[in-house]
Amino acid sequence: MVTRTVRPASAVDADPGLTPVGALPGVGPALAASLARLGLERVQDLWFHLPLRYEDKTRITAIADLRAGERAQVEGVVEAVERGFRYRPQLKVAIGDASRQTLLLRFFHFNRAQAEQLLPGTRLLCYGEARHGAQGLEMVHPNYRRLDEAAAATVDEALSPVYPTTEGLGPKRLAGVIGKALALLPPAAQLELIPPEWCARHGLTSLRDALLYVHRPPPDAHLGQLMLGRHPAQQRLAFEELLTQHLSLKRMRAAVRQRRAPQLGGTGELRQRLLAGLAFRLTAAQQRVGEEVGRDLVQPRPMLRLVQGDVGSGKTVVAALAALAAVESGCQVALMAPTELLAEQHLRNFRHWLQPLGVEVEWLAGKVTGKARQRALARVAEGASVVVGTHALMQEGVAFARLGLVIVDEQHRFGVQQRLALRDKGRDGDLVPHQLVLTATPIPRTLAMSAYADLDVSSIDELPPGRTPVQTVAISNARRIEVIERIHAACREGRQAYWVCTLIEESEQLRAQAAEVAHAELSAALAGFRVGLIHGRLKPKEKQAVMDAFKAGELAVLVATTVIEVGVDVPNASLMVIENSERLGLAQLHQLRGRVGRGEVASNCVLLYQPPLGQLARERLQVMRDTNDGFRIAEKDLELRGPGEVLGTRQTGQLSFRIADLARDAHLLPAVQQVGEYMLAEYPRQTTQLIERWIGGAARYAHA
Ligand code: ADP
Ligand code: MG
Repeated sequence: MVTRTVRPASAVDADPGLTPVGALPGVGPALAASLARLGLERVQDLWFHLPLRYEDKTRITAIADLRAGERAQVEGVVEAVERGFRYRPQLKVAIGDASRQTLLLRFFHFNRAQAEQLLPGTRLLCYGEARHGAQGLEMVHPNYRRLDEAAAATVDEALSPVYPTTEGLGPKRLAGVIGKALALLPPAAQLELIPPEWCARHGLTSLRDALLYVHRPPPDAHLGQLMLGRHPAQQRLAFEELLTQHLSLKRMRAAVRQRRAPQLGGTGELRQRLLAGLAFRLTAAQQRVGEEVGRDLVQPRPMLRLVQGDVGSGKTVVAALAALAAVESGCQVALMAPTELLAEQHLRNFRHWLQPLGVEVEWLAGKVTGKARQRALARVAEGASVVVGTHALMQEGVAFARLGLVIVDEQHRFGVQQRLALRDKGRDGDLVPHQLVLTATPIPRTLAMSAYADLDVSSIDELPPGRTPVQTVAISNARRIEVIERIHAACREGRQAYWVCTLIEESEQLRAQAAEVAHAELSAALAGFRVGLIHGRLKPKEKQAVMDAFKAGELAVLVATTVIEVGVDVPNASLMVIENSERLGLAQLHQLRGRVGRGEVASNCVLLYQPPLGQLARERLQVMRDTNDGFRIAEKDLELRGPGEVLGTRQTGQLSFRIADLARDAHLLPAVQQVGEYMLAEYPRQTTQLIERWIGGAARYAHA
C-alpha cells in the first residue's frame, strides 16, 4: 500500500516533490483542478510533465524561404482579408514580407473581434506550419500576435517547450506553473533514486540537470537533436522511465503470480461445436496458439498471456475458444475493447458464434443506460456467461458472479492500470481471473520483454488463406488534386474510401481541426457524394451514427483522424488515403492500412506525402509499398527507427511513455534490466518511489 502524504507548505524543504501543487504561489483551486485533469497533483508531477516537442521562435523566416511541412515563424504585413462562407465560415488573411512573397493564413474558428483586428496594414508575427494550399503556401490556424507599427519584432532567446495540455489550460500558464515547480527542485543527490554506483557505471547525467535541460533548453541547444530525443538529458530521463516501467511490471507480475485462479479445463464440448459450425478451418497458427492458451487455463495460477497476430490473422476466434473453455467450467468471461466501435463488432461476432450454442452474451458499454443498463448489470451479477463491452466494464457497480477469464483486445490502447482494474473485478475470495490480451501490433522479442514484462507471448504468425493484398502507392501532396479526382472516380464506381488525417498535434482539438479542414475540402471537391467526418472530439453517439452511415453506404468517403486505427471493419471500404504519411511510423501505417483489404474486392492505399522526403521516410514508404506482412514491417520498423525516429511511441499510442521510445531507446534495455534486477532485490523503497514518481496515480491504484 502506497500512502500519499499531503504535507503543509512549511515542510516544502523536507520533500518538495510531494507538496500538493496548490501550495505553489499563484495556484488557486481552479488552476489546481485543471492540473489535476492532467494528473498533475504534486510538485513532482510537474517536474516530470515533459515537453512533447519544441518550437523554434528564436528566428524569423522569410516567406520566400518557407518549406511545406515545416513549422516556422514569419513576420509580415496584412495585404488582403477575405471572409468566405461557401461551406463554412472562414477567414483568409494574406500577409507579405520583404521577400516579396505572400502567405495565406486560414482560420475556420474565429470571432468578430479577431476578424476586425486583422485589417490591411497590420503587422503580424506568426508561428505555424506551412502547407500547400490551392493558392500556394498557407498556414492553417497559426499562432499570431499583432506588432506595433514601428517596433521591431522581438524573438525568443531559447527554444520553447510544448507541453501536453488540456482544454482550459493555456500553454503559457502551464509553462509558468512548471517553472515555479522547477524552482523547488532539491539538490541533485536528494533527487536521485537510482543507486549512484549504477548511474556512474552507465554514464547517466544527473537527474536534476537533465530535468532543467529538457524544460529549459539553453539558447545554444540543438533543435534537431532535441526533436529526435537523443540529447543525453533526454536519454537520462528515458532510462529512468524505462526502468520504472520495468520495475512496475515486474512487481505486478510477481504479485499476480502469488494468487490463485480457477482451473478452466471444461469438457471441450462447446468448443467442438463452435469449430464444427465455423465456415472455415483454423490455421495451424491459430490452432497452436489456442492450445497454448488452453494449457494456461487449466493451471491454478492466473494466465497472463499476450496473443499477437497481424491484422486479420483471426485472433477473435481464438479468444472465443478460450471464452468457451471458461463457460464450460461454469465461469464468466469479460471481453473488453478500447472503443465502442470495436466492442460492438465483437458483440456481433460473439453473438453470432455463441448464441446458437445456448451461451448468453451480454452487452455493457457507456451508451447502455437506464433500464437496459440495470438489466445488463443484473444479468452480469447473476452470472451471464459472456459480457462484451468497453471500459464501462470496469466501472463501479459492475459486479460479476464468477469471473474466470478477462479478454482485452487491442492491448496498447489500455494502460496497465486498466488491465488491473478488470482483474480486480474478478476477486472471489482470493481467486483472480485469467487474462488474455490480444494485440495486432507485432512486438519484436526484446521489446516484448520490456514493455510486457508481466505477460507471456504467443504469436499467430500466419494469415488465413485467400486474402488479396492491398496495393499501395506513395504520391506527393503536390498531386493532391489528382488523388481527389481518383477518389471521385472510385465513388462513381460505388466504392467507399477512408481519408485519414494524421497530424500529430498536442491536443485532440487540433487534430479534429485538421480533419475539419480536409472534410471541407473534400466535400467541396466530391460533388454529388456525401462525405462524413469522425474524430475523437465527437460524442460516442455521434461517432456511432457516422460509422453506421458509412457502413450502410450512405457516406461515400469518411474523413477520419487516427481514431479509426484499431479494429474497425467495413468490408466495402476498399480505398484509403493517408495524409502526411511520411510522419507516421511503420507500425501505425500498417494498422491504418489494415482497415482496407477486408472484403473480396482488391483494395488500394494511397500514401500522400509532403515532399521533400527524408531518407528514413522514403524507406518507410518503400516498405509499405513492398509488403503487407505485419511481422516483416515490425522488424523493418525497428531497424529503421534505430537511427532516428522522430515520432515516439507516445504518439503512436503503443504505450504511454512520456519521453522514452521503445524502439529508439532499445539500446538502453539491457542496462535497464540489469539495474532493475538489482533494485528490486536491494532497493525496495527507492523502487516504490520511482513508481510513484513516474506512474503516480496508476501505481497508487495498483497497490491499493
Ligand atoms: P483480427 O486478428 O484482426 O482480430 P479477426 O479475428 O477479426 O482478425 O478475423 C478477420 C476475419 O477473418 C474475420 O472475418 C474472421 O471470421 C476470418 N477468419 C478467422 N480465422 C479464419 C480462418 N482460419 N480462415 C478463414 N477466415 C478466417
Ligand atoms: Mg481484431
